[in-house]
Amino acid sequence: MIRDEIVARDKAHVWHPYTAMDEYTASDPLVIARAQGSWLEDVDGRRYLDGNSSWWVATLGHAHPRLVATMQRQAEQGLLHCSLAGTTHEPAARLAEELVAIAPPGLTRVFYTDNGSGSVEVALRMALQMYVQNGAPKKRGALALEGAFHGDTLGAASLGGLDVFRRVVGDIGLTCVRVPVPAPNAHARAFDMIARLLRDKADETAAIIIEPMVQAAAGMRIYDAAFLRELRALADRHDVMLIDDEVFTGYGRTGPMWAVNHAGIAPDIMCLGKAFSSILPMGATLASERVFDGFRGSKDRALYYGHTFCGHPLGAALAREVLAIYREEKLIERSKEKSLLIERAFARIAEIPGVARVRSLGMIGAADLGEGYLGKIGWRVYDEARRRGAYLRPLGDTVYVAPPLTISNDELTQLLGIVEESVRAVLT
Ligand SMILES: *Cc1c(COP(=O)(O)O)cnc(C)c1O
Repeated sequence: MIRDEIVARDKAHVWHPYTAMDEYTASDPLVIARAQGSWLEDVDGRRYLDGNSSWWVATLGHAHPRLVATMQRQAEQGLLHCSLAGTTHEPAARLAEELVAIAPPGLTRVFYTDNGSGSVEVALRMALQMYVQNGAPKKRGALALEGAFHGDTLGAASLGGLDVFRRVVGDIGLTCVRVPVPAPNAHARAFDMIARLLRDKADETAAIIIEPMVQAAAGMRIYDAAFLRELRALADRHDVMLIDDEVFTGYGRTGPMWAVNHAGIAPDIMCLGKAFSSILPMGATLASERVFDGFRGSKDRALYYGHTFCGHPLGAALAREVLAIYREEKLIERSKEKSLLIERAFARIAEIPGVARVRSLGMIGAADLGEGYLGKIGWRVYDEARRRGAYLRPLGDTVYVAPPLTISNDELTQLLGIVEESVRAVLT
């Protein structure tokens, strides 16, 4: 089918995520025919470097040959889908063991989900139910950071701190108190406020949830590892579960495998998604033995939760292969050099008149060009970058890269050059 026919059908019927549809209908969308390595290719054969790993998923690039082979192997074996309802299978069992082996210490139990929001949702339910049925029934609230994003289900969205996203759902979900983000020189203020809140409300608080080191959807806002260590200490002192949402930051996005590694701490519960299986919707929530123990005993104490496709064999086989590729291709070590390229490029971008602020961490670089999520400058940079061969979906007026860890140094240099030129074209 040619481009215009696809677009006509799409515009007649497809309702796009996170998209103002009137604006979209007037726009000229990319029509992707292939995704391979660090590249997206459209139906007319034009190629674009995938600047955000297709919504932060493709840390291994697209169609990694080992993942393609895994899908074929799994199909040939004849085990593509079956449930985990009183049954099990080798991919789910072995994957759980492999995840526990590399997770922060103390996370010993793996609950499978089928997306990042689901991983957060089940983390909340674990924390709430554990307290409710083990002598602390008033612990039903949560603390989250201003500007937080933890997904789109009602429970996950009620933790969110981005007004445009939560305007409608408001506080339908659970009670959540939002506390300030530790801005570069407001670290003490944020910490004091959380400490005060917990002093007064620890008996009503089940969990503190964090996007460790970087709040992604808020515009790649980076904060200090010391803050994570302080939160860990507070959570211990007040007996509150520390939930670590690594859906974006996991799998080496910020440098080490998990962003909490920057702080040398371990959470009580950890949420995974996105890069987890690289191709299929799948994720997991890892929990400590203490959390798991809180559900032992009679039937009414069970965690009555589970999505239909959780722990499916094809996804689990892919997720195992993802871990094997990280190990064998030494992706974490090899990304260090690439992080330096990103850091240097964004330092250059900082010099462009009109750029408000830049920052980088691991395989992330970001520049603020204006004000806020509904701004237009980011999208003008998107258009410039598209003409130059890169896909650079902005977060409002924050322009950023979060490329595959497997991107070659040449491709990365090319991508960063396009970002710089595009920002210059718009601002000067
Ligand atoms: C994307 C994201 C989620 C939600 O994941 P979905 O798979 O879109 O449901 C949750 N938390 C963080 C930090 C994310 O970046």
